[in-house]
Amino acid sequence: MSIINQIILLQDVDNKLFEIEKLLGDLPSKVSDLTKEEDEVKSSLESKEVDLKNTSVSINSNETLVQTTSQKISALKDKLVDGSINTNKEYDAMMETIDFEKNLLNDKENELIDLMSKKEVLSKEIEEDKASLDGIIDELKSKKEDLNKKMEEVSEEQNALQSERSDIVKDIAEDTLEKYTQIYKARKGVACSEILDNNCEGCGAYIPPQIVNEALAKDIVNCGTCSRFLFKTEN
Ligand SMILES: [Zn+2]
Repeated sequence: MSIINQIILLQDVDNKLFEIEKLLGDLPSKVSDLTKEEDEVKSSLESKEVDLKNTSVSINSNETLVQTTSQKISALKDKLVDGSINTNKEYDAMMETIDFEKNLLNDKENELIDLMSKKEVLSKEIEEDKASLDGIIDELKSKKEDLNKKMEEVSEEQNALQSERSDIVKDIAEDTLEKYTQIYKARKGVACSEILDNNCEGCGAYIPPQIVNEALAKDIVNCGTCSRFLFKTEN
């Protein structure tokens, strides 16, 4: 088969492959986006769960500290009235200790309030993340099923076309193939044009007789205006 006929065949195969890609649409990229989103939500969920666990541990130790400090303060207060204090100096020292413990208690109680509200926020966020993860997983599953169904339908055809394409391009010189690829892209899938009545069918430009003869001889010639590969079938 002449090179020009190989190029025409290649264009036909490429157009069929293009249709297959169009049929698959944006499903492959959607599946990849959803997989990424799923990973992100999962990892954020994991770190929040660790945070929640640590917050609960802090709450427990703060609660213990609040309890022991309260007990300590009331024991100290008891000493103020049980007659064990004899001097003003001892009394002042005791009051200072009580104030210190009260401040500590106040700090720990404030921390506890913050920790508890943090725990509440985290629990709510984890619940929301879990719900959105379920939604993402469901959507991903259905998109993947759609994709696989379509892939199955076309993969056999796609494989056959790709193997046909490899066979065709083997015979075409590299620079010709490169030129074909450029024109194919620029001319939206129409890289070849027939000469009809000495005109390029693709753009209507006049084709000189010398070029027409070369096309008839199956030489590789291109339209001077639109660059498409020209061919002419004998009348
Ligand atoms: Zn042309």
